[in-house]
Amino acid sequence: MKAALRVLYPPQCLSCGAGVGDTGAGAVHLCAECWPEARFITGACCDCCGVPLPDDGTGREEVLVCDDCLTAVRPWSSGRAALIYDGTARKLILALKHGDRLDLASPMARWLAQAARPLVMADMVVAPVPLHLRRLMRRKYNQAAQVSSRLARDLGLEHRADLLVRVRHTASQDHRDAAERFANQHDALAVNRRCVLALQGRPVLLVDDVMASGATMTAAATALLAAGSGPVSVAVLARAVKDH
Ligand SMILES: [Zn+2]
Ligand SMILES: [Zn+2]
Repeated sequence: MKAALRVLYPPQCLSCGAGVGDTGAGAVHLCAECWPEARFITGACCDCCGVPLPDDGTGREEVLVCDDCLTAVRPWSSGRAALIYDGTARKLILALKHGDRLDLASPMARWLAQAARPLVMADMVVAPVPLHLRRLMRRKYNQAAQVSSRLARDLGLEHRADLLVRVRHTASQDHRDAAERFANQHDALAVNRRCVLALQGRPVLLVDDVMASGATMTAAATALLAAGSGPVSVAVLARAVKDH
């Protein structure tokens, strides 16, 4: 009921519940305290993972790629993130993930739609990174799917919640270094057999809540391409960055 009321009466801060006036921040439903703690990525960014990059100020439209994406193998073609995983973004994502704050999925999907619009291609299909079944039962819903279905609607694209499946259990990615994360995710995801035919040659927009090392996205994009998809792009609510 509380969640339903939040959707009907949004002038409350999504993060702390405080009243939101008719300020610029009101457009994203964050209060004057939480708004500066939300680091939206709006300027120059890495075309591959969405991390903000310094603008050279020349106004030239060149494709920028960050150091991480130059050194890691990124099987996907392009990517965007709405926010940096920090401050308010971190609080909101954890609330969506563990706190039953499903009402956050729609406004956060709208933020992601703005960031991901340049990735849209004709006949693109949108799909979430799946949670493992055991984790899904514990959490009741896959937060990535909650966001990706709304994102697909906002962008006018088809949504396939079951495009990817987990084929084996993976231990939590927390407290692992990048190499361990890649090994942990390797071959953990596969394309749902029922979707393979419909996937042939079609561009895919993969959606997740957070990208850190990119190991999960690498496993997902590798599985899609191996099954015959067109180019894969990735869209995440927040990009975790090292230097802050
Ligand atoms: Zn607030
Ligand atoms: Zn990058």
